[in-house]
Amino acid sequence: MTTFEQLHAHGFGQVHFCGAQDVQLRAIIAIHDTRLGPALGGCRFVEYSDEAAALTDALRLARAMTSKAALASLAHGGGKAVIMRPAGDFDRGALFTAFARFVDGLGGQYITTADSGTGTEDMEVIRAATPHVAGFGVEAGGSGDPSPYTALGVRRGIEAMARVVLGRDDLQGLHVAVQGVGHVGYNLCRELKDAGARLTLADVRETVAAEVAEELGAQTVPAARIHRVECDVYAPCALGGALNDRTVGELRCKLVAGAANNQLATDRNGEMLMQRGIPYAPDYAINAGGLINVAQEVVGYDAEVARVRTLRVYDTIVEIAERAASSSTPAHRIADAMVAEKLAAAGEAR
Ligand code: NAD
Repeated sequence: MTTFEQLHAHGFGQVHFCGAQDVQLRAIIAIHDTRLGPALGGCRFVEYSDEAAALTDALRLARAMTSKAALASLAHGGGKAVIMRPAGDFDRGALFTAFARFVDGLGGQYITTADSGTGTEDMEVIRAATPHVAGFGVEAGGSGDPSPYTALGVRRGIEAMARVVLGRDDLQGLHVAVQGVGHVGYNLCRELKDAGARLTLADVRETVAAEVAEELGAQTVPAARIHRVECDVYAPCALGGALNDRTVGELRCKLVAGAANNQLATDRNGEMLMQRGIPYAPDYAINAGGLINVAQEVVGYDAEVARVRTLRVYDTIVEIAERAASSSTPAHRIADAMVAEKLAAAGEAR
């Protein structure tokens, strides 16, 4: 596939290649869509095998940000930056300063924030060169750690799925199997326990899983078995691809609703879930709490407003689940159609 064929396949947009040899900067800023507002998305700083892998990641991630922002009714489009981490020694401050100048040159079309491999200190470096950055610590007037907001939204999403799929008004006694108890998974487990759910959890870091289980009175199973636990809700909160050709056939849950990005290994796995009669909450709809939180920083951070907006994930998930059920259509297709409707309406309004 040529680069332009790749862009067209993802419905792009603009892509900027940013290089500064003296500081070993090799960055790609992908702006997928700005019809709803300036693109907001993290800046990923990881090692890539080659430029093609970095470009593919940037395109895929930026597109997902458009969907996430649109479904969360944010006045933002989708964008993402990937910086190819140099293999040897490098001057981190100089590299991020050079990156910030490129962000600044885009005049606010793209607002960067933290992502895998970057943190609040990098955002402070970027802020010295451009105002188009968010994701600062609470002590610096920023929105702080996004994970509790992501977890809050996921808990609301699980409540929405329980309402539509199971006819339940609360999570009391509901059995939830959680894959991964890192930043979001741990906070989600706490939310669920407070709501009265029964928990089974797993993490590849077995001691961490045991500690969380001890704290919350949960059961643990080996990480390889968590998707096979007989339960009401399976909540993938680890890496992408949790729902693949092998695992979907082995699920013994009544519904899937979790925080991880890119849960469906392929779209086909969304169809498989529907054929198995297992409703699924699309990841980019249910895990928007962290984005909602950082977006609040762009207009002046207010934790309570961010919290109230995050609670609305419930309504989005109810709408997707109801439309999916009434039309016998996989939930990810319904969510994609809702994104397209919102973007088209914004385009016409312009
Ligand atoms: P994290 O790295 O803090 O936690 C991930 C956890 O999963 C770790 O404890 C890790 O040991 C565990 N893990 C990895 N592979 C596993 C496996 N096969 N089985 C069981 N456990 C496994 O990451 P996080 O910030 O909690 O994010 C979790 C997921 O949620 C990611 O997919 C991320 O992209 C997504 N997400 C996070 C946020 C956020 O606010 N942090 C927002 C939206 C989406």
